[in-house]
Amino acid sequence: MPESKVKKSLGILAIAEVEPYQEQAGEEYMGEAQLNHFRKILGAWRNQLREEVGRTVNHMQDEASNFPDPVDRAAQEEEFSLELRNRDRERKLIKKIEKTLQRIEDDDFGFCDSCGIEIGIRRLEARPTAELCIDCKTLAEIKEKQMAG
Ligand SMILES: [Zn+2]
Repeated sequence: MPESKVKKSLGILAIAEVEPYQEQAGEEYMGEAQLNHFRKILGAWRNQLREEVGRTVNHMQDEASNFPDPVDRAAQEEEFSLELRNRDRERKLIKKIEKTLQRIEDDDFGFCDSCGIEIGIRRLEARPTAELCIDCKTLAEIKEKQMAG
């Protein structure tokens, strides 16, 4: 597997350099300790994405030279448009992360938007921006498929 792929599959926990959360017996769900855990994860993830966006811009400025050969120029334009699409995706993700950080501050984090039950720490560690519990998410995906099909 190429090195860049390995890096991309790096988990969000690894980016934030945190271990999976260990709950104490009888600990309150989404108490201050748990919220801090997710603040740290979401903050580190957002910073990493911001760096990536910044790197893309720098890279494009460095490389934006005028190739005399039209083939080279076309290849460069294609590369840039791919990078712009990636950057767009990253920007959207950053917005979503910031929205999720706001949910933490509003005491609204960790509960399903649809049915209100606890989304669960393990699911949130895998997908910190999840707004639905696994059941509602599965149902939403089935509905989506039915609409499309
Ligand atoms: Zn639900």
